[in-house]
Amino acid sequence: MTDQTMHFQAEVTRLLHIVTHALYSQKEIFLRELISNASDACDKLRFAAQTDPALWAGDVELKVTITAEKTGRILSIADNGIGMDRDELIANLGTIARSGTGEFVSSLSGDSARDMALIGQFGVGFYSAFMVAGKVEVVSRKAGEAQAWRWVSDGSGQFSIGEAERNGRGTTILLHLREGEDEFLDPARLGRIVKTYSDHVALPVVLQDGDKAETLNAASALWSRPKAEITEQQYKDFYHHVAHAFDEPWLTLHARAEGKLDYTLLLFVPGMRPHDLFDPARKSALKLYVRRVFITDRCDELVPAWLRFLRGVVDSADLPLNVSREMLQHNPVVARIRQAITRRVLGELEKKAEKDATAYAVFWEAFGAVLKEGLYEDAEHRAQLLKLARFRSSAREGWVSLDDYIAAMKDGQAAIYVINGDQLDQLRRSPQLEGFRARGVEVLLLTDPVDDFWLSVVQDHAGKPIKSATRAGADLDAVKDSDAARPDAAEKVEGAALGTLIAALKQVLGDAVKDVRESKRLTDSAVCLVAADGDLDMHLERLLRLHQKLDATSPRILEINPGHALIRALAARAQQPGAMDALTDAALLLLDQARLMEGETLADPAGFAQRLARVMEKGL
Ligand code: ADP
Ligand code: MG
Repeated sequence: MTDQTMHFQAEVTRLLHIVTHALYSQKEIFLRELISNASDACDKLRFAAQTDPALWAGDVELKVTITAEKTGRILSIADNGIGMDRDELIANLGTIARSGTGEFVSSLSGDSARDMALIGQFGVGFYSAFMVAGKVEVVSRKAGEAQAWRWVSDGSGQFSIGEAERNGRGTTILLHLREGEDEFLDPARLGRIVKTYSDHVALPVVLQDGDKAETLNAASALWSRPKAEITEQQYKDFYHHVAHAFDEPWLTLHARAEGKLDYTLLLFVPGMRPHDLFDPARKSALKLYVRRVFITDRCDELVPAWLRFLRGVVDSADLPLNVSREMLQHNPVVARIRQAITRRVLGELEKKAEKDATAYAVFWEAFGAVLKEGLYEDAEHRAQLLKLARFRSSAREGWVSLDDYIAAMKDGQAAIYVINGDQLDQLRRSPQLEGFRARGVEVLLLTDPVDDFWLSVVQDHAGKPIKSATRAGADLDAVKDSDAARPDAAEKVEGAALGTLIAALKQVLGDAVKDVRESKRLTDSAVCLVAADGDLDMHLERLLRLHQKLDATSPRILEINPGHALIRALAARAQQPGAMDALTDAALLLLDQARLMEGETLADPAGFAQRLARVMEKGL
């Protein structure tokens, strides 16, 4: 059979173009990427051999071997891991499988300085080989098979694939180095690179020089070493390795438990949001090991989904080595480890929040929205999560906890008030907040989509009910307030005059509103919409409609501000003959205005425009 030529997926071609034309200063990371792949391949072999020991085929010392061939200027990286067959070579090295790399390609801007920074941030896996090699050959033989395959490419749009021979299973990557890259043939340089980037890889990385073989790395599982022997830098390097990340971990949690449950955790909270944080398929990224043998990084039961930003390793001594994915699903050991992780992580977060509010704010900004999913899903940890939660506020800058809020409550204020919306600045300007502000009552501003959901199940905190400021029953009258600028201090319509106007508005608006009422909360605006007690929250309703979960709009209560000049003028007009004709346009305009301030769309924009034109014309 002759070799076959194939084309790369378009994204790969783009990626390779960047990689090969990049003047990236940290080219040596290619070695980290190839060693990481070799190590993954060995993990996979070990796991597969649990159920099929024949795969070992007498070759049981898993390792990575680096050879520098000076005359031909070829650097080779070989492993005796799982290997790839023909189809796998085509799929794995011709397309972009990893979500992170796909993300990388789609965020490429064409601006080389920016794109370079991205390479540093994402790493580009196997393709980074082309940073130093003009031609890359991959010879691979899958465990349990006799036939080996050769994949060759110069990184320009296509690759070829054909039959090959290889001694035993595994993969050899042969890098035909470009002009000027001879430093990567120097044993001392290679030794330093491996030490820097791959010291924590759990299997030996051996430099083979003739018949001299030297192991370059420590080759032990970092998490199994005592804490006192591990430097901060080693933790950081390990985080980079295990999380495929390049930032500083925000929190490192290394713990061991012995006794009823025997496990080791080395967990990290990333310093930045990982790119797949909101990917619904990704519930956990933790790697599960059993007595230092890699089992899976797809064990969703290991942590609650609302802790899915955690990265790192869980090593259990209580699970059998041949545990299958199915066995993990309802496993009591896994359930207990999950509880332990949750307890420890929440404990650490509490400590950090107490010790350093500024550092905690960095965490909250990155992962608060995820943690809040727990308020909704996890009744058991709700109280603890409410303590950890931070909010924006109408009354101050920065982040506020519920306890901060309660400490600042006004005399006579009975509830914790919140308002939901899409954007902070829009919420800050919301007419619903006017009366709260005038009385010095703080309102928490919630802008994450998840807020609507947890608010539907969390009724109170520390004995105080949590209420939306957009609800009708917001009892502001009870708030004792020394401030003279109270809204009812101003001149306003009252009594029969107000009653007549309200009746007229109700008649014009009919079913479009649930009620028309005098407002206690408005000071500057003429009108606003509020939800009746027991009705769906207005923001939640809008969200549900946006996601096609709801098509009807429920009518709201229109509140009018009796102190506002416009309302006063309308009330005066309502007393005169022919009032209904005069008030029709005004009533509909008031309702549309209130809707617009809510961020709603208008049911009849053309009608709105005509009415507005008529009123303006009269006014001029
Ligand atoms: P990632 O390692 O994040 O999946 P890479 O670009 O580094 O992305 O590698 C792509 C894929 O190629 C891997 O997921 C793996 O399936 C395959 N692969 C790469 N190197 C090896 C190897 N040495 N042995 C077996 N498979 C490999
Ligand atoms: Mg990789």
